[in-house]
Amino acid sequence: MNEFDVVIIGGGIHGAGVLQACAAAGHSSLLIERRGLASGTSSRSSKLIHGGLRYLESGQFRLVRESLHERAVMLRTARELVQLRPFYIPVYRKTRRRPWQLRIGLFAYALLGGFSEGTSFGSVPRSQWHTLDGLETRDLDAVIRYYDAQTDDAELTRAVVASAQSLGAQLAMPASFVRAQLDAEGALVNYEEGSAMRECRARVIVNAAGPWATHVARDVRPAIDIPRVDLVQGTHIVVPPPTVSGIYYVEAPSDGRAVFIMPWKGATMIGTTETVFRGEPDQVRPLPEEEQYLLEVAQAYFPALKGLTRNDIAGRFAGLRVLPAGDGKAFGRSRETMLIGDRDERPRFLSIYGGKLTAWRATAEQVMERIETSLPRRRSRASTEDLPLRRTE
Ligand SMILES: Cc1cc2nc3c(=O)[nH]c(=O)nc-3n(C[C@H](O)[C@H](O)[C@H](O)COP(=O)(O)OP(=O)(O)OC[C@H]3O[C@@H](n4cnc5c(N)ncnc54)[C@H](O)[C@@H]3O)c2cc1C
Repeated sequence: MNEFDVVIIGGGIHGAGVLQACAAAGHSSLLIERRGLASGTSSRSSKLIHGGLRYLESGQFRLVRESLHERAVMLRTARELVQLRPFYIPVYRKTRRRPWQLRIGLFAYALLGGFSEGTSFGSVPRSQWHTLDGLETRDLDAVIRYYDAQTDDAELTRAVVASAQSLGAQLAMPASFVRAQLDAEGALVNYEEGSAMRECRARVIVNAAGPWATHVARDVRPAIDIPRVDLVQGTHIVVPPPTVSGIYYVEAPSDGRAVFIMPWKGATMIGTTETVFRGEPDQVRPLPEEEQYLLEVAQAYFPALKGLTRNDIAGRFAGLRVLPAGDGKAFGRSRETMLIGDRDERPRFLSIYGGKLTAWRATAEQVMERIETSLPRRRSRASTEDLPLRRTE
């Protein structure tokens, strides 16, 4: 029977990151992915590698600092895949966040980012407003410019898996996790590959199944604690040109939520929404009212989009955030990643709940710290901070 130090379930960005971190640390590892790499949330994000400016408002400074550090790492190691882009925040007479508040926020952002590459910011002078892709200028008081990065989330995920494979990590795909039996030495894992039922041993299983993580955790024996989480749907729509050249960070007129309007593969992408989701994760789909909401937000800022209706939407996708269960609005809930083991000492099964595309590498390193005591000592092969990431096609 095959034996691995670590078996990882789920080939999204977190599974990819843990696979790479295991391989870099010299551990044998297998990733089991049911459909295709990044077939879940990791191809349905806003595709931003960012510190998360808005998390400053909810005091999530650690998250912002970590994300800005990770942005700097990827700007160095993944130049083909992660690029800095100008972000514009238009401030109108009625906009809730005023220019002075944004400047204080951006100063804190630069400070938390160690004043590294891409932390400069300023205002776009009125004389240059005509260069802003037809942005509505009526009642416009100021336009603040700063920098964050954009990626192709699915390509990034594939690049991280390729980096892990180059260090000897293995991939079973398409293959579905079926069950795990925990014992004194680790776990016995059953998974289905094609029509064959396969079995292998793992010292530790890492559950990186994103919105399906609670389903996976339910198939572990003896039963383990499963935290209460909410799934919150986020939809994006893609509309044909006129294309914006920068990324616009706007306030939705109806509820003040932050929405991004950004260039995406020759068209314009608008997102996202936050709708509590109660169904099966496989069933998530953009809702007509979400699409209408996003169109209305974009039309309020770009008069050239005014004629568009839902029939003009060229692309649409919805993903699911995993957030701690709660009664409040999803917008204000903690975005910190939760790592939950079957036990505190020498875990045999560790689940990743939540998290951010941007922080995948940091999350993977935190997973390694948590499972270190369950693993044999191996000779490290590389540092994930230095491993280059390249496009796979
Ligand atoms: C709308 C939205 C926008 C976002 N925008 C951003 C952003 O701009 N920047 C940012 O930093 N973060 C963003 N995020 C967060 C980020 O996208 C997610 O945290 C991240 O993609 C989650 O990755 P994951 O690997 O945990 O899950 P997923 O990508 O969902 O991967 C889970 C994988 O597990 C597989 N799986 C499930 N069950 C099984 C099984 N039984 N056997 C084998 N495999 C299985 C699935 O097929 C899937 O591929 C966004 C999230 C959402 C929802």
